[in-house]
Amino acid sequence: MDFDVVVVGSGLVGASLALALKTAGLKLAVVEAQPPQPVAGAADWDNRVYAISPGSAAFLERCGVWRELDMARVSQVEAMRIVGDDDRSELHFSAYDAGLRELAFIVENRELQRVLWDALKRAQHVEVIAPAACKALTLAAEAAQLELGGGRMLHARLLIGADGADSWVRAQAAIEVEMRRYHQTAVVANFATTKPHRGTAYQWFRRDGVLALLPLPDARVSLVWSTTEEHAAQLLELAREELAAQVVAASHGMLGDLTMITPAAAFPLRLQRVRQLVMPRLALAGDAAHNVHPLAGQGVNLGFRDARELARVLLQRGAQTDCGDYHLLRRYERARREDIVATQFTTDLLQRLFNNEISWLAELRNFGLRLTNRRSQLKNLLVQHAVG
Ligand SMILES: Cc1cc2nc3c(=O)[nH]c(=O)nc-3n(C[C@H](O)[C@H](O)[C@H](O)COP(=O)(O)OP(=O)(O)OC[C@H]3O[C@@H](n4cnc5c(N)ncnc54)[C@H](O)[C@@H]3O)c2cc1C
Repeated sequence: MDFDVVVVGSGLVGASLALALKTAGLKLAVVEAQPPQPVAGAADWDNRVYAISPGSAAFLERCGVWRELDMARVSQVEAMRIVGDDDRSELHFSAYDAGLRELAFIVENRELQRVLWDALKRAQHVEVIAPAACKALTLAAEAAQLELGGGRMLHARLLIGADGADSWVRAQAAIEVEMRRYHQTAVVANFATTKPHRGTAYQWFRRDGVLALLPLPDARVSLVWSTTEEHAAQLLELAREELAAQVVAASHGMLGDLTMITPAAAFPLRLQRVRQLVMPRLALAGDAAHNVHPLAGQGVNLGFRDARELARVLLQRGAQTDCGDYHLLRRYERARREDIVATQFTTDLLQRLFNNEISWLAELRNFGLRLTNRRSQLKNLLVQHAVG
């Protein structure tokens, strides 16, 4: 056997999983098609940012990468303010009320990729094979066999697909995936503000979708505007000043005037569910295993929870246990099922509830926001799940 475990994909989930397996006593390889490239002009802000939960931050700390981040580029979310589409109904969360130091951290994608990639390259327990093209996968009783471009053949007791939403591994294993397009696009860009954000993340539920302004260090914010495909196309055609003006109007000038500091980018949105996370000799993690609407900022946090759980199962497997054993992998699948299904259900329900013109539903959703805001126990439950 060449390896005990081969991870395909060194995105945030695949890389963190490989690092979390440091003490598992396993021979590991990570296969990556497109290693991250150093970015020229890194003083600019990445327009792709994540709200990383304290639970995910603690996991990344255990992987040895959180402390490698440039903390001057990371901001803490101390409060959240969610506004309904009647512009009156609001839901507030505060770290202070929940007895926490912060609700989340806002971290640039580029910065996270950098620290994870550097740690992978340094790790003694991992062979990084990149750039590499996967050509064929065979799952036999004793081993998974992965053929790479150039003819190299890898044999592993366990193959992990962490290769994103369009997973090649998932397709090769013929794992069924149920996909529904939201017919929405997330428009992202960063702005300088004239009013301070005070560590608050803002979110407006609107008829066209959901607009979020996430705090970046100093007077800057990151926009994630999930809106209809047509509206997104219009926004992307606007000059910088015009797009800024649209965001000011949509956010009711909450943060004063905005100046765009990075170009806008767009991501099509979809819901994806898979029938199974594991089969003999194979497991899926991260976006390969689930894809959710970004309105709750949970996508990569779900993926980090997959990585954390799969690493735990493999670390606790016992020296004699084959790490690709189906019964062992089922433990991972069973442990992750509830969290994944609940997050898919909640984000999808919220998306449907607010993306709807029926008037009684409009009343109901805004009433729901106000009601939740008055129920401190319910708010605490929601916070505890989100900080997970
Ligand atoms: C607009 C937007 C905002 C978001 N905001 C948040 C947020 O605030 N918080 C949050 O938690 N989540 C957020 N998400 C979700 C988050 O982006 C994803 O969940 C996360 O990036 C998934 O990570 P991953 O490692 O599973 O997959 P990916 O990041 O897609 O990584 C997959 C890796 O596999 C590699 N790969 C692919 N195919 C192959 C192959 N055949 N062979 C070898 N390598 C391969 C790729 O090159 C890549 O490196 C957001 C998503 C969107 C669209």
